[in-house]
Amino acid sequence: MMATMMELINELWLLPRHLISPGYDAALKRLAAELPMTIHEVPSGTKVWTWTVPESWVCHEAYLETLSGKRLLDVADHPLHVVSYSLPFDGEVSRNELLSHLHVHPGLPEAIPYVFKYYQRDWGLCASQLLRGSLKEDRYRVVIRTEFTKATLKIGEVLVPGKLKECFVVAAHLDHPAMVNDDLTGVVVGLEVARRLLAGPKSFYSYRFLFFPETLGSIAYLSQHEDLIPQMQGGLFLEMLGKDAPHALQTSFQKNSPSDRALITALRGLELDAYVGGFRTVIDNDERQFNSPGVRVPMLSLSRVVNPHLPESRFQPYPEYHSSLDTPQIISQARLENSVETVLGLLKAFDQNLYIVNHFKGEVFASGYGLWVDYKTDSSGHKRRFEIMDRCDGLHRPADIAEELDISFQDVWGVIAKLLENDLVSLSLTPQPTDPHLA
Ligand SMILES: [Zn+2]
Repeated sequence: MMATMMELINELWLLPRHLISPGYDAALKRLAAELPMTIHEVPSGTKVWTWTVPESWVCHEAYLETLSGKRLLDVADHPLHVVSYSLPFDGEVSRNELLSHLHVHPGLPEAIPYVFKYYQRDWGLCASQLLRGSLKEDRYRVVIRTEFTKATLKIGEVLVPGKLKECFVVAAHLDHPAMVNDDLTGVVVGLEVARRLLAGPKSFYSYRFLFFPETLGSIAYLSQHEDLIPQMQGGLFLEMLGKDAPHALQTSFQKNSPSDRALITALRGLELDAYVGGFRTVIDNDERQFNSPGVRVPMLSLSRVVNPHLPESRFQPYPEYHSSLDTPQIISQARLENSVETVLGLLKAFDQNLYIVNHFKGEVFASGYGLWVDYKTDSSGHKRRFEIMDRCDGLHRPADIAEELDISFQDVWGVIAKLLENDLVSLSLTPQPTDPHLA
């Protein structure tokens, strides 16, 4: 019995899914029970390009008390009360010292912020502004019992084999304790898309779905699979898909790549009010690693960032971001379902985006093949059909035509499908120019 996306979220969201941690491992193990998944493990201390895989971190206990023993906050009540990767601490502190280690959310007075210090080596607690404002005593007791251990960074991979070994990568990050939209929504949408592709007809390209801790997971996977990088023809990072906002598609570093063109022109046919923005303008995440020098996989990202056109969306994508208010209440199963359909539509266009090779010469005898559009009743449809057929010359892919004519991928594909049915064209992975001057 497969769990629904919301059931998985409700089951996993409160786990302390810190970067490398038992909570993260438990969540990945649960996902692996849903469909065939390979788990790659990279040990702490391993050099992965310019980075080193950190140790695993766990918090056994963390609380703040008055000296008379009144408990003011306790990590047992919420996993965000401790700074992720905090050093252990046990002692009495002055109010000033406490305040320099007690973090609050800048914009949400009642929320506990998500704070992580992977490399600063410091101790810290997190509270609401309201609690922090109520601290009037001179001295307090802090207990933080955390433990760093050598373990492994774990990456879950679901492979949907296609006719080609060349592949498209879909990725989402599974770490972040007790948060939902960032990015369990991307994880469950990715998992559901993988499940549907596995159940459907065999695709042309292969599809690799990756679930990992952010940044380090991408780098660890890529650095351990350098042989696969040349096969990666494109990618899509999924994140923050639960809020009530249209989809926002961020282009890759190579905005004219076939992967970019196919996804951008297909989104146009799927959602009229979707937003498209340039690389590093909408939201920053693991797509950066895939697009980076020496890797250069054209990976786009799909989200539902609330104000994608504002420069601050990259660091403040929605009001509840990185706080205890990022809960199942701010997302909905209907929006997740809609995102699954959108991703399937984008991947379908990527899979269909091959060179169109004409078997015909001259203008096609349209009415003889049921391809005639009457210009008296639909003059623009008539013109469009011929504009598309004019470009079927072994040098254009559907997305190239869609971009050139400023129409959707699906509009172009509608005509190509009819030409394929009539055996007037075929599809090719490589350009096959039919202009005799190019032979
Ligand atoms: Zn985040």
